[in-house]
Amino acid sequence: MTNKIKYFIANWKMHGDLKSLKNINKVINFTKKTNNKKFKIIYCPPYTLLYNFIKNLKKTKISVGAQNIHENYNYGSYTGFINARMIKDIGAKFVIIGHSENRASGEDDDKINQKIKSAFKNKLEVIFCIGETLAEKKKKKTKTILRKQIEKGLKNLNNNYKVIVAYEPVWSIGTGLIPNNYELSKNINYIKSLVSKKFKNYRILYGGSVNPKNIKELNTIDIIDGYLIGGASLNYKKLIDIIKKTFN
Ligand code: PEP
Repeated sequence: MTNKIKYFIANWKMHGDLKSLKNINKVINFTKKTNNKKFKIIYCPPYTLLYNFIKNLKKTKISVGAQNIHENYNYGSYTGFINARMIKDIGAKFVIIGHSENRASGEDDDKINQKIKSAFKNKLEVIFCIGETLAEKKKKKTKTILRKQIEKGLKNLNNNYKVIVAYEPVWSIGTGLIPNNYELSKNINYIKSLVSKKFKNYRILYGGSVNPKNIKELNTIDIIDGYLIGGASLNYKKLIDIIKKTFN
């Protein structure tokens, strides 16, 4: 295992209400009892809970991020949207950009690139999601898709920024399916070869159906710097279990 810190990003998607804040107290207690120099937890709750998460996690080592932003850096007439300035203003440090669920509803690589620029301009750290669909995988287009998403998404960015790339095969999200180790290592290495040409400071995570049952197997792939976890992160016991099993 590498000595690099491992990331555990909890993507709550459209889940959670004020009562679910109780959930994070258990995770706070867990981090207090463990050597959390080895890992970093980032909660990405829905917008409605961002402020409460930030307030509750203030004196802890757990960070908070948003799940998306509007691409426009300035305020404007965009009903229902939130931009990077607003996210930064309430104290979030991270933002997920390019999640496949948003790509599927029309976010293209150019818009994702604008969002990333806007986030960096506001000093937010970016969790940049990429990944192929099942149809693309079947047509053996995975590499082509990953290259296109990386080249367009990270186009014209200052290479002093740090970027966290989450490789999330679309067919793996919420399905219980994960790539086999050979395929996953190959794709992560490919992503690394492209991202490292551009950035000195980067991390490559895996996301897609990570759970306490498959984490040991995933952890055998040394070059994975952490995980983006959807469904399992809603259950604090599963999240803690995933972290524990990563290190034991
Ligand atoms: C995700 O939505 O980014 C994700 C990885 O979800 P799940 O863990 O539920 O597959």
